[in-house]
Amino acid sequence: MILETADIKSVLTSSNTTQKMYINGEWVLSESNQTSKIVNPANGELIGTVTVGTEEDAKKAIESARKAFYENGWMNSRARDRAELLLQISNKLEERKEEFAYLETLNNGKTLRESLGDVEDAVNQLRYYAGLATKPHGQTYDVPDDIQAMVVREAIGVVGIIVPWNYPLVMANQKIAAAIAAGCSIVVKPAEITPLSLIRLFEIIDEMGFPPGIVNLVLGSGRKVGAELVSNPNVDKISFTGGTDTGIKLMKSAADTVKKISLELGGKSPNIVFADADFDAAVDYALYAIFANQGQVCSAGSRLLLEESLYEKFVPELVRRAKMIKIGPGWNDGIEMGPLVSEAHMNTVLNYIEIGKNEGATLLCGGNRIIEGDLGKGYFVEPTIFGDTTPDMRIVQEEIFGPVLAIQTFKTEKEAIELANGTAFGLAGAVFSQDGAKAQRVIRQLRAGITWINTYHPTFNEAPWGGYKQSGIGRDLGTYGFEEYLETKQININLKVEPSGFFEGK
Ligand code: NAD
Repeated sequence: MILETADIKSVLTSSNTTQKMYINGEWVLSESNQTSKIVNPANGELIGTVTVGTEEDAKKAIESARKAFYENGWMNSRARDRAELLLQISNKLEERKEEFAYLETLNNGKTLRESLGDVEDAVNQLRYYAGLATKPHGQTYDVPDDIQAMVVREAIGVVGIIVPWNYPLVMANQKIAAAIAAGCSIVVKPAEITPLSLIRLFEIIDEMGFPPGIVNLVLGSGRKVGAELVSNPNVDKISFTGGTDTGIKLMKSAADTVKKISLELGGKSPNIVFADADFDAAVDYALYAIFANQGQVCSAGSRLLLEESLYEKFVPELVRRAKMIKIGPGWNDGIEMGPLVSEAHMNTVLNYIEIGKNEGATLLCGGNRIIEGDLGKGYFVEPTIFGDTTPDMRIVQEEIFGPVLAIQTFKTEKEAIELANGTAFGLAGAVFSQDGAKAQRVIRQLRAGITWINTYHPTFNEAPWGGYKQSGIGRDLGTYGFEEYLETKQININLKVEPSGFFEGK
């Protein structure tokens, strides 16, 4: 699927038009009068201008979400009606699949095939949660009294949704779908640099006729808009995806109002390859694990743990294939890796590569920004692989969030497990081995929330997504992700209505 340049432009809203936020059922400019320029990371060109919201804008959105939920009846809305709304959004999104995919590629840089996969995922998330909307069920208890004791599930209330830039549509969409299915009202804040696909999703949402205030989109910085959502006492829950450092700040701020939070944070995930693995599959997945989406994946297999006896055979093949990866603008046919999302992020990644070299790791391939020809206008970094690392190195311990792989080696199963668990993170991990019992043994020892045997990356909207340790709290997706937006209420009904007799005097 290739679009000509003219068609690509037609996907974009004119960059001279300032794109608005969606608050209380209306498209509005921020009272700040400030705008921000949105750039295509593949060539540095301007692709949009958006209004920049403030704390005041966030407060207005929160107020409208609160009113819609508590005063205007959304709290008692029918699950079947919410399911229908989600299904309608999914159908509209599906009709415009290619347009959304192009927009995501232009704004984020990811290849078109990955963007298309993201939009298809988003469509399925909406359908999955439309199905779940009518499924929450309570319980009744046999209690030692003349009481009917039971539990009902209720929407948690006003939800603040804060998302990063690496999957701009999917990350927000999965939270929006689950929260609406559960009956919440929402205020969504995209990352500053990748708001375009979400603004367009809200155009679809706007057509659905939601009562004003149920769904709000506020653009702006994390420091202002995001922080307001977290500290504001009228927000009942925050659902956050982003970096661990930001998650720590959020948790501290949320403590002041004992706000419920779920955090999907960073990772430094191990991909463990034993000598008895299927060689071709293991090499192939080792590349996919780290270089998909330019390595800007929270669950990326950014540490390759290789059984020492396999090193001599495995590493040359890995490097050979890494050098063959086709790099270019994500909308071009056959491109396998696009640019990093922004100049600032590219510089962070390049800085980590320098750190790796200075720490004494061996640069096996890559390591540079691509500066030749048209690619020099964008933020392209070569697939980079480091060998001879030690566990204490920063490139082994810290999340780089780019196309940089650190190889570690091990001699025994025990050592593999120790190395795998040897960071502060616990998001994901994989084992490649043809010994089924060994693979399962090792997986069960990994302190990580998302794991694979003989594959890397496939995940499903039906299954829970989230991390152990400093990779987060709570889960997105699946029924677990739905639970995050539900409260649990105990109801006790007296079946023998007479005075309790607790106090004697009448
Ligand atoms: P980030 O933490 O810098 O920003 C994420 C969001 O938080 C943005 O919308 C930002 O504006 C907002 N924000 C920043 N400071 C804030 C504050 N003080 N209060 C409230 N909101 C604030 O992350 P990023 O650089 O956009 O994304 C990359 C990170 O996201 C990586 O660490 C990656 O691992 C993580 N991530 C995790 C998952 C997961 O599911 N675990 C998925 C995708 C990305």
